Amino acid sequence: MIRFEHVTKRYPDGTTAVDDLSFEVAEGELVTLVGPSGCGKTTTMKMVNRLIEPTSGRILLQDEDISDVDAVELRRRIGYVIQQVGLFPHKTVLENTATVPHLLGWKRGKGRDRAAELLDLVGLDPSVYGDRYPDQLSGGQRQRVGVARALAADPPVLLMDEPFGAVDPVVREHLQNEFLRLQAAVRKTVLFVTHDIEEAVRLGDRIAVYGEGRIEQYDAPAAVLGTP
Ligand code: ADP
Ligand code: ADP
Repeated sequence: MIRFEHVTKRYPDGTTAVDDLSFEVAEGELVTLVGPSGCGKTTTMKMVNRLIEPTSGRILLQDEDISDVDAVELRRRIGYVIQQVGLFPHKTVLENTATVPHLLGWKRGKGRDRAAELLDLVGLDPSVYGDRYPDQLSGGQRQRVGVARALAADPPVLLMDEPFGAVDPVVREHLQNEFLRLQAAVRKTVLFVTHDIEEAVRLGDRIAVYGEGRIEQYDAPAAVLGTP
């Protein structure tokens, strides 16, 4: 589903953030990228949705070189959730969730129905929260809206960059459990960045353990932990 072939990213200041990276993520697989800050996880993710261009190498999405896919189509295929999701402050939760369907030109009613369905899936009752504004939500609730928004156009791929990193531990565990339930239902191909090994083990079908600019180990959680 996603394949990195000898991908290197060197920033203009000479920093090599990602060095000759090759790996593959299967359809419906949830891969966690784990490692200390600065080892190239975010750079890896941002190259998938072309927020960053690789210096060399190529990335295939559904067997297609992503540099041949136009930006709108890429948005349809890839949902993106970051640590502090940027919701539009003057739009309601429902409108925020329908952002991508709106960009894609769906009919308003269809976009809103879809948004309501997704809010329900992430545990936010649309009849209670749909008409609220982002500043009327808790941090955890805003992250849920971010997840719902990323899934609204039903993309096959989901990129999550420390989506639960800024909420307190109790809420984080709650969000992790909900996300596992959600993933069991929707089966997206997911790249999930975290610096928390426990989170990586809990969520990942496979774990990519990063060292400086490279993946040092790529295996199932039990193998990474060295347990049978
Ligand atoms: P991580 O997500 O694992 O924390 P990043 O991919 O953000 O790592 O960063 C990898 C390396 O690239 C770090 O050394 C970081 O300082 C550097 N880096 C990230 N973005 C830029 C940039 N825009 N310009 C120069 N160096 C950068
Ligand atoms: P914001 O910056 O407030 O998050 P955007 O218009 O950038 O608003 O994002 C709106 C929606 O588009 C979000 O669902 C986000 O997940 C998605 N999105 C933004 N950038 C990308 C991208 N490069 N690839 C895929 N989806 C994206």
